[in-house]
Amino acid sequence: MASPDLQAPGAFVNTKMRISRFSVQPDCWYTSLSNGKEHFLMPVQFVASCELPTQFGKFIMHGFEDPDTGQEHVALTFGSVANQSGVLCRVHSECLTGDCLFSMRCDCGSQLQTAMQRISEQGAGVLLYLRQEGRGIGLINKIRAYQLQDAGADTVEANERLGFDADLRDYTMCRNMFAHLQVGSVRLMTNNPVKVNALTKLGIDVQDRMPIETGHNDHNDRYLKTKAGKLGHLLGQSTGS
Ligand SMILES: [Zn+2]
Repeated sequence: MASPDLQAPGAFVNTKMRISRFSVQPDCWYTSLSNGKEHFLMPVQFVASCELPTQFGKFIMHGFEDPDTGQEHVALTFGSVANQSGVLCRVHSECLTGDCLFSMRCDCGSQLQTAMQRISEQGAGVLLYLRQEGRGIGLINKIRAYQLQDAGADTVEANERLGFDADLRDYTMCRNMFAHLQVGSVRLMTNNPVKVNALTKLGIDVQDRMPIETGHNDHNDRYLKTKAGKLGHLLGQSTGS
């Protein structure tokens, strides 16, 4: 069976293949393939920008493409962020159900809205919207995981029963996105110290972590407790609702 030349720069990588990237040079990223070989990964490429008026004010939306996975990501900027330090920032992974379908199974939609509201109130900031649905397992697998949770599993157990790690998200693309926007350092709105560490390892200067505790309800109480208990999220440390 014909297979793509996985050694060629920018060659297609099956998105079902777990990508674990590592850098041997500042701008060269590689991934280990299941056949033991290594594959050069192209950085995400900036494509175009446009205005994005929202209920929180007018943002600028910047589109990026990942040549390896075909994933499309966007950055929303508000006000002046280039060459600024301590830029208020949210790195948000796609959650179709929470962000767009008003799901109360998680806190994503509320976090997204709160982040955009805070950035608007601050007068400047960045929101990176990364297309890695369901902590990286994809929408259909997320539905499968929700089905297992309906039968009693928690969010981590459900992912593991489907053969996935608890969290497959990758933040490598943030490096080039921040570089394109010329953001010097960030104050990151997150409850997740793993995300802070991942960005720091990529060379992104995270000056501070800003808690973003919002969207707690009866339907996501167990989910939030699992995130705190099994995934290390820092919850219950701020006075936010
Ligand atoms: Zn969600």
